[in-house]
Amino acid sequence: MWKTVRIAVLLLVLVIVAGRAWLDRVQTQSWKNTLWVGIFPLNADGSPVAERYIGTLSQDDFASIETFFAREAHRLGVTLDEPIHIELYPEGRQLPPQLEQGAGLFGVAWWSLKLRWFAAHAEKVPGRTPPRIRLFVLYHDPASLPVVPDSHGLQKGLMGVVHAFAIKDMAGSNNIVIAHELMHTFGATDKYDFGTGEPVYPVGFADPDRKPLYPQESAEIMAGRRAISPTSAEMPLSLQAVVVGPATADEIRWTHH
Ligand SMILES: [Zn+2]
Repeated sequence: MWKTVRIAVLLLVLVIVAGRAWLDRVQTQSWKNTLWVGIFPLNADGSPVAERYIGTLSQDDFASIETFFAREAHRLGVTLDEPIHIELYPEGRQLPPQLEQGAGLFGVAWWSLKLRWFAAHAEKVPGRTPPRIRLFVLYHDPASLPVVPDSHGLQKGLMGVVHAFAIKDMAGSNNIVIAHELMHTFGATDKYDFGTGEPVYPVGFADPDRKPLYPQESAEIMAGRRAISPTSAEMPLSLQAVVVGPATADEIRWTHH
């Protein structure tokens, strides 16, 4: 008897979780209403540099992400005026759980559960509507580390953790990383080689038919960098030199109307 009840409860939970994930996906891939994306800035290293930088942030610093999504969506046939709206939330005090370097499948699953728990509690800002998608942006003092840890965007749970440099000169590339992780929450997959970091041909190229092929003028958002030669690539300075390729557009359902 109890065994049956336990199994029934477990099945019910699974159905609810699966149903919720399905609903999230449908709602974030319909492109019929503007999706609210919340940026939650955090001081990653507790440094005064990051603290000062976060203090200067305003909605305007993220406007190029909205412009990028609108420009590319319209180019690919989406009619919605403003596909995403970015809302800046006050600085949080608690850092999200960290994903260990080289975590296995189980480690990643466990981390994403902890992250969901964290996000569910972090999203409540009195007097502010919670956003549909939550991005925790962790700012680092560039003097304290040469490269920031990997960022992650999750479609399940509609959230992301972005590591960024606390410096105005990097605001353009920070926004490329934010847009990339946001694309992951919509279901887009990476289009660079995990070993070399080079864009994958043809899906990771902004213009795969270009003659000559190199150097590419722009980068594809899920490759992150533009190929300069078969063995080198560089990150653009801003989202102005980034496009959404057909494969990514397909994954986030910009091309199924
Ligand atoms: Zn990625």
